[in-house]
Amino acid sequence: MSVIDGKILLTKNPCYGAYQKMIPKGIVVHSTGANNPYIKRYVQPDDGIIGKNIYGNDWNNPNEDICVHGFIGKDKFDRVKFYQTLPFDICCWGVGGGRNGSYNYDPAYIQFEMCEDDLRDKSYCKTCYDKAVEVCAYLCRKYGISADNIVSHREAYLKGYGSDHWDPTNWWDKFGYTMSGFRKAVKKKLRKTVKYKLRENGALYEYGYKDVLGDSSKVLKSLKKGSAVTWLKDDSCGWSKVKSGSAEGWIMNSHIETDKLSSFPEEVLRSDTRAVRIKDKKAAGEEIIKKGVRITVICQMERGRYIGKRYIAVGGKRYYI
Ligand SMILES: [Zn+2]
Repeated sequence: MSVIDGKILLTKNPCYGAYQKMIPKGIVVHSTGANNPYIKRYVQPDDGIIGKNIYGNDWNNPNEDICVHGFIGKDKFDRVKFYQTLPFDICCWGVGGGRNGSYNYDPAYIQFEMCEDDLRDKSYCKTCYDKAVEVCAYLCRKYGISADNIVSHREAYLKGYGSDHWDPTNWWDKFGYTMSGFRKAVKKKLRKTVKYKLRENGALYEYGYKDVLGDSSKVLKSLKKGSAVTWLKDDSCGWSKVKSGSAEGWIMNSHIETDKLSSFPEEVLRSDTRAVRIKDKKAAGEEIIKKGVRITVICQMERGRYIGKRYIAVGGKRYYI
């Protein structure tokens, strides 16, 4: 079962329209500060599960100036769920700004709301808290975020990266939940050993990139389809550090049998770009890749002859740029 119970992107919200890409560095936990535990209050259209908001005051609205990546709250059957509402790799408009900056942009944090009720139902509060622990552990794994970089909106304000709000302390305080306890609970979840199988033959590399021309990162070990590796961490750009037997090294997430890990970042070239074509593991001359072409970044070379270059894919072709 996935941590993400549903996905309804708030595409009419101007924040979605801005579509500012980011690499998440942390997480901000919010609660809504209004007595309405239903996801449909904020998220629309109805997918048949959350229910319809007949008041038209949801956040999938061109006049809204706030937006977050997800909501924890009740569906129409009163089951507590997590709905994703923005891609996790674009900036949201959640926490406002403070004297040092804003966790919306710099550094950019993933942010979600928990839908408050009348703050008297301990069991609803605990269910939301437990769900938030799961969501944060999932996001920490997927984006290589440290649990120490999870903050409440209140803490974001105190650190100078958010507006002066009290959430979710205003709610959690009533039942004895704290942010330090919350971070501990996430860390506990993260400590659990995770084993994954390989969906195809792969290799364990010495560094977090593929050494196409054979002049830097060593292959520590070849791994066969179906064999299991112990997962250690995700670099948030499509690679994970894993353990196989006594060997520790890096493997592409696309080789691992799960969708819970990051994938290679994609981008559109902003100008014509000189590129070295790589064919049969050899440099095969230079080409210009045109402005506007969509590329997939497989890795950034960290040493060797092509240090500083990026190894990319355009369709079936491979290049260094
Ligand atoms: Zn908040």
